[in-house]
Amino acid sequence: SQLILKDPSLLRQQAFINGEWVDADSGATFDVTNPATGEKIGVMPQMGAAETRRAIAAANDAWRQWRGKTAKERSGVLRRWHDLMLANADDLAQIMTAEQGKPLSEAKGEIGYAASFLEWFAEEGKRAGGDTIPSPSPTSRIVVIKEPIGVCAAITPWNFPSAMITRKVGPALAAGCPMVLKPAEATPFSALALAVLAQRAGVPAGVFSVITGSPQAIGGELTSNPIVRKLSFTGSTQVGRLLMQQCAPTIKKLSLELGGNAPFIVFDDADLDAAVEGAIASKYRNAGQTCVCANRIYVQDGVYEAFAQKLVAAVDRFKVGDGRQEGVTQGPLIDHKAVQKVESHIADAVAKGARVLIGGKRHALGQTFFEPTVLADVTAEMLVAKEETFGPMAPLFRFRTDEEVLAMANDTEYGLASYFYSRDIGRIWRVAEGLESGMVGINTGLISNEVAPFGGVKQSGLGREGSRYGIEDYQEVKYLCMGGI
Ligand code: ADP
Repeated sequence: SQLILKDPSLLRQQAFINGEWVDADSGATFDVTNPATGEKIGVMPQMGAAETRRAIAAANDAWRQWRGKTAKERSGVLRRWHDLMLANADDLAQIMTAEQGKPLSEAKGEIGYAASFLEWFAEEGKRAGGDTIPSPSPTSRIVVIKEPIGVCAAITPWNFPSAMITRKVGPALAAGCPMVLKPAEATPFSALALAVLAQRAGVPAGVFSVITGSPQAIGGELTSNPIVRKLSFTGSTQVGRLLMQQCAPTIKKLSLELGGNAPFIVFDDADLDAAVEGAIASKYRNAGQTCVCANRIYVQDGVYEAFAQKLVAAVDRFKVGDGRQEGVTQGPLIDHKAVQKVESHIADAVAKGARVLIGGKRHALGQTFFEPTVLADVTAEMLVAKEETFGPMAPLFRFRTDEEVLAMANDTEYGLASYFYSRDIGRIWRVAEGLESGMVGINTGLISNEVAPFGGVKQSGLGREGSRYGIEDYQEVKYLCMGGI
């Protein structure tokens, strides 16, 4: 077959419920394919509500024992899981590239990034303690303790098949919560490989289960089952809205990491070479398929032509191809729908007066490969200004003043990431404070790491992942009032 692993047991074609490898009740499966070749990699069980209910019940049974362990014991398990991820990084990266398409070097980078959340929350779990508060009465004392929220559910996307899982499971398990996960249909093998390693690391049966199959049926059960106390979702704003609605009747806690429409602003005092490098990293990483990808690039009038030229020169050096090949910098898009979206954004922009500086069409390699593209003379009337392209296309807008660009940057329902390049300290503070987003990259195009809080404002979501704030999303605050003192 196309996948040669050092440890073939990492590739599973079954789901993982209550510590056991299982098929769907119906025996039905769905195919998982390699986007670079269109070839089938394998099958996964097509599960639904019944299997999900069993996983939730098993998590509930396992909860008492897991929350009863000391934070240090849970920390040890997470640390072993982290170590196993790194020890198996080559195989995990092979699996990811096969099902997701990103270049092998990026896949390996993601495995390290994904593992870092397990390491970080292994450490944070030991420090996630409570508080004492000076009492208003001389005869009482006030203590605040932190408790695990309970059985958690997670629904994750295909663009970061490992990291979006560990960023949720890490803090959940560290806080003492079990978790039931539904990974994306396109990338289940990465999720199940993580389950293999979790079991080897000593995660008890039921504490982490992975269910594959129908998003509607599994999602319906995860959001309506009263045992589930919290849902953490990463994906589109549209599905996030739906899940939030479905969680309303049982008042679940929610963490939502939804869509973005990141502005990337290049001021005339910027270091242009650095700005180009940042734009490349932010725009084209994972073929433009990240929720923090620069989606709208605003360039100040005086440096517009120079920036455009340098960006095109850099894009011209890309190597598009199968992610397993040496030197490839851009793999295929995830599916044909993704290609159609990029095409529709380009067609709409060009019809309204934008110029294609490089790329602009499907790649000669076929499948879902797309040419890295740069558009100039893009305006607020075009689709790309409003919607996330989620592909390798950089639209260049022109602006004159700081006020003008801040208004344009904030003219969106989204507020996840934003970026800008400037060397002026006053401007840096004004713009950083003026941007309506949860994260701001200043003179950098890469902002994600395990120690910093990742998350959005406005319709980009709720809650923060990673950092010392990330574990709070999996804890309840309990207030103890001790009287009669
Ligand atoms: P994307 O456009 O990145 O695929 P989605 O929001 O559609 O974003 O998908 C993210 C995750 O949400 C995936 O795991 C997908 O299966 C899941 N999903 C999609 N629709 C639903 C739904 N109606 N209920 C529950 N999960 C869903």
